[in-house]
Amino acid sequence: MPTYARRVAGYGPSIFAEINALARQHNAVNLSQGAPDFDAPTPVVAAAVAAVQSGLNQYAPSTGRPSLKEAVADHARIHYGLDLDPEHGVLIVAGASLGVFLAILGLVDPGDEVIVFEPTFDTYAPSIEMAGAVPRYVSLRPPTWDFDPAELAAAFNRRTRAILVNTPHNPTGKVFSREELAHIADLCQRWDCVAITDEVYEHLLYDGVKHVPLAALPGMFERTLTVSSSGKTFSATGWKIGWCSGPATLVEGAKRVHEYSIFAVVNPLQEAVAAALRLPVSYYADLNAFYQPRRDFLAGALREAGFTLALPDALGAYYLMADISPVFDGDDMAFARYLAAEIGVTCIPATAFCRPSEKGLFQKYVRFTFCKQEATLHAAAERLARLR
Ligand code: PMP
Repeated sequence: MPTYARRVAGYGPSIFAEINALARQHNAVNLSQGAPDFDAPTPVVAAAVAAVQSGLNQYAPSTGRPSLKEAVADHARIHYGLDLDPEHGVLIVAGASLGVFLAILGLVDPGDEVIVFEPTFDTYAPSIEMAGAVPRYVSLRPPTWDFDPAELAAAFNRRTRAILVNTPHNPTGKVFSREELAHIADLCQRWDCVAITDEVYEHLLYDGVKHVPLAALPGMFERTLTVSSSGKTFSATGWKIGWCSGPATLVEGAKRVHEYSIFAVVNPLQEAVAAALRLPVSYYADLNAFYQPRRDFLAGALREAGFTLALPDALGAYYLMADISPVFDGDDMAFARYLAAEIGVTCIPATAFCRPSEKGLFQKYVRFTFCKQEATLHAAAERLARLR
């Protein structure tokens, strides 16, 4: 009987499928997947309803609605001083994960190497491998998630085509510092490589930390393809509206794959995201003010329950990495199953974000998300206290 291609033979169901099933089975408080349990902002939802009712129900232009492409370019100028050409420098895609995949397919040749930081978001290595390229890993070392500059320098070689940088970082909550980004930028220029950045958490920042897009560093705009999306910023992860942006030459690579695969993205929701990007800038400060106390509350609850926190607390995104060794004698996967079944809370084992060979470095950690209502976080805290 025919079966799947060798290209996909190595990829089973993702960890999220397994943990969400455990959450349902044990009626657990689900702090695993990074999806809010509250709705998108009312004006954003209203803009979507209005767009559907106004008849935007046929194909959008293949590269995206001009209103959204202009809103993306304006956003990049207002927040980061970047000068994007809305027509040729922005491509609207079906979410950031696909944006990264399109960027790799459109910019990287088979046999090329792509540098990624480990732990790494779970779609990156499959995306690189499906393009026939080779992921080359550099460790973010617990508990601070710093990388060794010499290790990064040694990862570059004449086969390196690209480096993939995710900041703020999932799963660790790390925000790459300007110095770290400058080191990456220097190596990209020295080896004439492309940078692909995943900045979906660009507006989720704590303790006054600022997001620095790699594209804004000297000499980097021309060699950086930036990927972001509306899912996290506007609490609308189900919409899957994202964008690739940068110099027309690099956007063109992603555009060619897009044009001959999906062709165009959900039309009315693009109009709604354009409206969302035009909310007053106070929206972003309010978003941080919304999440920071949630981060602090969950961090406190985890410490109370006996965990040690890495980093110590996330500076960006909406995840906390907790060291399980003070509360559990076993690895992260065993702990995640135990926590779901016996305590009634779910988390994601850190080894879901690394190669099996690197398990030793990460198997004491699990990731909890705090993109939840206060009541959800309180319920989790009550249950976690039973670990004591
Ligand atoms: N990149 C990272 C680092 C993420 O954490 C996520 C969501 N978990 C995505 C991409 C997915 O973004 P989108 O839904 O826009 O594809």
